[in-house]
Amino acid sequence: MAVQVGVVKETAAGERRVALTPDAVPRLRDAGVEVMVESGAGASAWFPDEDYAQAGAGIVDTDTLYTRAEVVLCVNQAPLQRLREGQAVIGLLAPLLNPALMSELAGRGITAISLDGLPRTLSRAQGMDALTSQSNIAGYKAALVAADTFERFFPLLITAAGTSKPASVLVLGAGVAGLQALGTARRLGAIVRAYDVRPQSKGEVESLGAQFIELASVEAGAGEGGYARALTPEEQAAQAAELAEHIAKHDVVITTAQVPGRRPPLMVTADTVKSMRAGSVIVDMAASDLGGNVEISQPGETIVTNNGVTVIGAGDLPARMPTSASNAYARNISALLLHLLADGELRIDLDDEIQRGVVITHGGSVVQETTAKLLEGAS
Ligand code: NAD
Repeated sequence: MAVQVGVVKETAAGERRVALTPDAVPRLRDAGVEVMVESGAGASAWFPDEDYAQAGAGIVDTDTLYTRAEVVLCVNQAPLQRLREGQAVIGLLAPLLNPALMSELAGRGITAISLDGLPRTLSRAQGMDALTSQSNIAGYKAALVAADTFERFFPLLITAAGTSKPASVLVLGAGVAGLQALGTARRLGAIVRAYDVRPQSKGEVESLGAQFIELASVEAGAGEGGYARALTPEEQAAQAAELAEHIAKHDVVITTAQVPGRRPPLMVTADTVKSMRAGSVIVDMAASDLGGNVEISQPGETIVTNNGVTVIGAGDLPARMPTSASNAYARNISALLLHLLADGELRIDLDDEIQRGVVITHGGSVVQETTAKLLEGAS
């Protein structure tokens, strides 16, 4: 019998993405998967129920979905409370930020599979890399949000009414999102500089036509797996102090710095924001309930300071471009699902390198090493 896969309607506030789009349905059906979609699941990303039905999916109500699905596909963790024993869920579950929730799922007999555990340097896993696809979208959107909020031109413009200088944009954190943000800001005509604690990013920044800023106060900060390491509080303070001089000279600052499983590093203090010129714009892509890269940013909110700086808490940018974000995510999650199937069934195999990264709970235990270690440390 075909494995039954259910696509839920996301319930988190502001979440407009959907885990599977209609164009991904035929490929799954060809592999022996029966797809059911909770009615209205794709509506906020502009994928109506009829498009799913035409592609061969069944449209069902919420109770039917959670009762019948063997594998539930989602974007973030909101649906986890409704799952039942024996079900599997695939999504961006942020296990390192919520290890206790993972332990609870294990106790309830649920197999939790999280796309953010994917070993990203494996080339056969690249089609499944949802962190990259969503960061790309977020970086692009960050530059557009900044340009739209900044009340001057981004490019150099010479007209009969005078000349306008190009905007100067500083991108802090030059990973996937930062590089996309700087490329997009460059295409809009801004002069762009960027900084990252990983020295390897210098070449990538320069190849996109931006200038790399080097800081004297911080040692190179490359960690494991291509990610940055967490800086000590002293290093972070020195970094923020040295960055302050650069930030004050820019019109727009886009911050993207993250360290996996940690609070985002604080890079722009409240005092630094006070030193910026009126009309400047900061987009903090790391803004979250844990805090962001900017001391005064608030997730999902736009603040205008007394000195006229607009600070946008923008940790949710992929959800603000839900059609492209869902299309890309659907390709990633389908590729992972197909990788997990053998003879038409979900086959968990922790000897497989991809599965060892993404399978967080199975058989009643937390099986993913990093999450299990965090739980051991907490007990
Ligand atoms: P991320 O979202 O974890 O962090 C964003 C950026 O913030 C990173 O570049 C990081 O170095 C930087 N950062 C963290 N703390 C900082 C600090 N205190 N100061 C300045 N910058 C700081 O990273 P990401 O965008 O997911 O990418 C991480 C790495 O993974 C990169 O090296 C990227 O090239 C690599 N990657 C490789 C593949 C692949 O090989 N297929 C795919 C995706 C990403």
